[in-house]
Amino acid sequence: MKTKTPSSTLVLFSGGQDSATVLAWALSRFDRVETVGFDYGQSHEVELEARIQVRDGLMRLNPEWESRLGQDRLVDLTGYGALAESALTSDMEIAWQADGLPTTFVPGRNLVFLTVAAALAYRRGLERLAGGMCETDYSGYPDCRRETLDAAETMLSLGLARKMPIETPLMYLTKAQTWALANEIGGGSLVDLIVERSHTCYRGDRSQRHDWGYGCGDCPACELRAKGWQDWGASR
Ligand code: ZN
Repeated sequence: MKTKTPSSTLVLFSGGQDSATVLAWALSRFDRVETVGFDYGQSHEVELEARIQVRDGLMRLNPEWESRLGQDRLVDLTGYGALAESALTSDMEIAWQADGLPTTFVPGRNLVFLTVAAALAYRRGLERLAGGMCETDYSGYPDCRRETLDAAETMLSLGLARKMPIETPLMYLTKAQTWALANEIGGGSLVDLIVERSHTCYRGDRSQRHDWGYGCGDCPACELRAKGWQDWGASR
């Protein structure tokens, strides 16, 4: 019989398509998986509800995943969100800034999230962090780049005096490839769960159901999700 050391991870989990896929990826790989989410004033009850629904759905999908999935923590970062104000946390228009980044960019967001998550992982005895950060996102958020995460990994490992790897399985995938990965991990039922329960729309709109899930259909997050879904469909 093959024996192996139990492995563990803390997934940064927002309830969106990417982090839902990463959570399933982690559950298919690690013995113990916990989740952390952040309330930075991004306004939507919808997102918080999606987190609960996706976690519940994943547990129902697979008894092994149910046994592996541990506690969830929602961390209040509204103080940070207020000072790092963006189109996600205020009534600012979604548009391009002079520096080439969209107003949905929340300065330092992943750096703050990773530091807080690392503190939690340290306390909970979890070996690593995992998140849905992705360089291929349309917006080119600089804190989603692997180069930034490599530096964060070094900083956290030095500052905590223990290794704190940051797993980013979606880093170089297109949104179509992210749908394909979900299908590979959990087949049609995982894809259906992500379509039905995860939430990506910047406007928090769940009044309209599209092939790819719920959303306003025309914010940048909806457009990206819809395009990924269509590209994946076309490639099958
Ligand atoms: Zn939308």
